Amino acid sequence: MSNLGFQAVYRLMNDLEDVVCERAFPSEREGTGNGRLRSLESNRALADFDIIAFSISFENDYLNLLAVLAEAGLPLLSSERTPPHPLIIAGGVTSLLNPEPIAPFVDCFLIGEAEPILPSFFDIFRKHSQKEAFLEALTTYVPGTYVPALYHVTYETDGTIAQFLPKGDLPVKVRRVIVEDLSLYDTYTTVLTPHTTFDNTWLVEVARGCPHGCRFCAAGYVYRPPRFRTAAQLGDSLDEAALHAGRVGLVAAALTDISCLEELCLKAIAHGLRVSFSSLRADLLSPEFMEILKRTGAKTVAIAPDAGSERMRRVINKGISEQDVFKAVEMLVGAGIPNIKLYFMVGLPGETMADMEAIVALCNKIKHRFLKASRPTARLGRIIVSLSCFVPKPFTPFQWVPLESVKDLKAKIKHVKDGLRRVPNVRVHSDLPRWAYIQALLSRGDRRTAELLVAAHKNNGNWAKTLKGSIINPDFFVYRERSFDEILPWDFIDHGISKAFLIEEYQKALRAETSPPCHVGQCKACGVCA
Ligand code: SF4
Repeated sequence: MSNLGFQAVYRLMNDLEDVVCERAFPSEREGTGNGRLRSLESNRALADFDIIAFSISFENDYLNLLAVLAEAGLPLLSSERTPPHPLIIAGGVTSLLNPEPIAPFVDCFLIGEAEPILPSFFDIFRKHSQKEAFLEALTTYVPGTYVPALYHVTYETDGTIAQFLPKGDLPVKVRRVIVEDLSLYDTYTTVLTPHTTFDNTWLVEVARGCPHGCRFCAAGYVYRPPRFRTAAQLGDSLDEAALHAGRVGLVAAALTDISCLEELCLKAIAHGLRVSFSSLRADLLSPEFMEILKRTGAKTVAIAPDAGSERMRRVINKGISEQDVFKAVEMLVGAGIPNIKLYFMVGLPGETMADMEAIVALCNKIKHRFLKASRPTARLGRIIVSLSCFVPKPFTPFQWVPLESVKDLKAKIKHVKDGLRRVPNVRVHSDLPRWAYIQALLSRGDRRTAELLVAAHKNNGNWAKTLKGSIINPDFFVYRERSFDEILPWDFIDHGISKAFLIEEYQKALRAETSPPCHVGQCKACGVCA
């Protein structure tokens, strides 16, 4: 319930006159496949609905999809479901990146933003009672819909994809669909629920996409071009927030890029709302914004240097310098925000142990400035260093590179932890590299990966046992460097980004060269705005 995309789709569906959308979640207990899973609103058995729609933001949630199907008493495979079984559809950012690992379970994916797709989807749904005819009409007439059963994949003897072809005259590529004008749709919390991450927080989507082009960030590519809402529209959303909650959460990948951020925060404060932010860029924090931040009551602010050395930050096109980070920390602590969270990644392309040293050194320098800036406030907070394992994602310039080995990721994390172990007031949290391996498998795999998901489902989510007993070699998907001319499992999706652009960006990364951010209206670099 803490996912704004999920909430937006729930509202969009219920806004359609002849559609009733209800919620259901897999139970905490082990899935039993006994058909007991019921909707929250009307307590109706899931299998009795016409459609079951999944919103999936993380690949590691794929097993929940299987758990829901099993718990609803439905066959897992699309090919084994026949009327009156409900239609299974899926969307969310994982569908925009690479839906293939779950293709055999899903009847239809919505590839893009739901607002423009859903009305046409239901127009076609109303006209067809036969599943096959409906799915074919959908693929023909509704951009952004992808029906895996209508695409046939063949493989070379080395295991790479030989062909990925549609049936008959259906489109070879599925063009993702986005909202061109965000002012047509408000996106904010629909249902406030207790006992969730955002129980008293009204989330408001401020923008979609991000102009900065960080080379590791899939969302920065598949939500292009960056789009920002107007101050007037966001002001109305804040008026709504004030009616329902005590806190507003401003959500965007590029929050600090929005010109009306200060104005918005002041309006929220005037409404008596506390404000929280999804992320802040270190190079875009102003003294004026600090004053506002102080009044929001923020206790912790996260900034993301992402890499320790200037060289690595050029490799990933982060666009912020060490000085930007220092200045941001000094301003934040000076404004009375006691705790700073710092995000870093390990396992980036071209990274060495010297870059781990650079993370330790940067954290020490930050700590020094943190202490100095804390003195006048007589309040010493904490620096929380968060280390996550870099997973190369589809549609980024790093889509061809392998995951760093689990062993090397562990060694790198240990190196940073050891380096910061004795630094007072600094805590280090890290990912488990074995989960990065599973995430890489599920984000870079093809249809054959689905067999592993079925096995993991049968093994109650025990991946170690599943991978041990697998006849598919998971390393093929995780640790193999791919060539530029290989057909990638996700190549059938057309985001409008040219492959030549991604290759050029990758080569610039290898040379540690940066690229400029988006200038929508004046730039045709990646192909999306052409
Ligand atoms: S064409 Fe230019 S402005 Fe448009 S999304 Fe691509 S890089 Fe950004």
